[in-house]
Amino acid sequence: MSWEDYVKKVIPYVAGEQPKDHNVIKLNTNECPYPPSPRVGAALGAFDATTLRKYPDPNVSELVSVIARRHGLSDKQVFVGVGSDDVLSMAFMTFFQSTTPILFPDITYSFYDVWADLYQIPYERQPLNDLFQIKKEDYLKENGGIVIANPNAPTGISADRILLEEIIKANSNSVVIIDEAYIDFGGESCVPLIEKYENLLVVQTFSKSRAMAGMRIGYAMGSEKLIRYLMDVKFSFNSYTMSAIAIAAGVASVEDETYFQETTAKIVATREHTKTQFSRLGFRFPDTKTNFIFATHQYVPAQELFEALRAHAIYVRYWNKPRIENYLRISIGTDVEMGIVIEFLENYLKNREKKGH
Ligand code: PMP
Repeated sequence: MSWEDYVKKVIPYVAGEQPKDHNVIKLNTNECPYPPSPRVGAALGAFDATTLRKYPDPNVSELVSVIARRHGLSDKQVFVGVGSDDVLSMAFMTFFQSTTPILFPDITYSFYDVWADLYQIPYERQPLNDLFQIKKEDYLKENGGIVIANPNAPTGISADRILLEEIIKANSNSVVIIDEAYIDFGGESCVPLIEKYENLLVVQTFSKSRAMAGMRIGYAMGSEKLIRYLMDVKFSFNSYTMSAIAIAAGVASVEDETYFQETTAKIVATREHTKTQFSRLGFRFPDTKTNFIFATHQYVPAQELFEALRAHAIYVRYWNKPRIENYLRISIGTDVEMGIVIEFLENYLKNREKKGH
């Protein structure tokens, strides 16, 4: 026997690359191309470093309160964590204790199966239809829990709230997690359903629409009962997940609703323009309600485009996985960045044609 026999062996999630070179156009991890609200910078500047000698508030009360107020919920219906990855991971650990498999789509956020494996939760992937849409009937069988990203990643497709409500309603015996990482770019949130369904947990993040991926703030909203269970697990794991600095920055962001609305509207406008240009260049993509486009080209393989873009210091995301190996996920950058991408693609495609490919 060796000590290695006692080690937990897992295959970790592979995050998008974070290149050291700041001169690249980085459209591979769905970050916001704009800075966070100026109030975040102001709060950080005004932060009194002498207070760091103390532990932060384990209940994260101040941040919980502003989030609850913004969503019309009570403080007891909100749970905050270190990015939505932390919140989702904690939710998997808390709510998915059945021996019956949990269900999620075959094409979705690739961290779900990693957490399921980590916590030894049995799972069954449900194939999306040919248009990458959820088939409701797949989620009406017995299960140990359900997790659905809405809008979905990496497809960008948003499901109707009516469809999701039917799934939530039919599964009162298990917890349904709706991962709304991209909801602020146009999808229909399930937050209004929280009052109706005790088994619904909605997870959101500051990483995309609030331009704070580097601060690591995510949150869950649900019935008081669900939130209490989550808190119990969190306090059995790590009481002080949120640093005092993250709490101060998070509060400042939520207090600037105008900036938030302006930034998301700008990204949506750039996305719509990019869609038109991509169509003109021969790309096809499902309608997206996110800050990214999941595109396939009519005749040029995705991997070839991925490599060509990369050689030109434009980073996008590509997965060599069944069903999606001919797609690129391209985050929406600024108008200038998208202009460069479109120009590059246009030239690349023209040159390729000239060469007789
Ligand atoms: N859910 C989905 C669907 C995502 O794409 C991401 C971003 N990788 C996350 C959750 C996690 O984001 P964060 O931990 O930064 O909140």
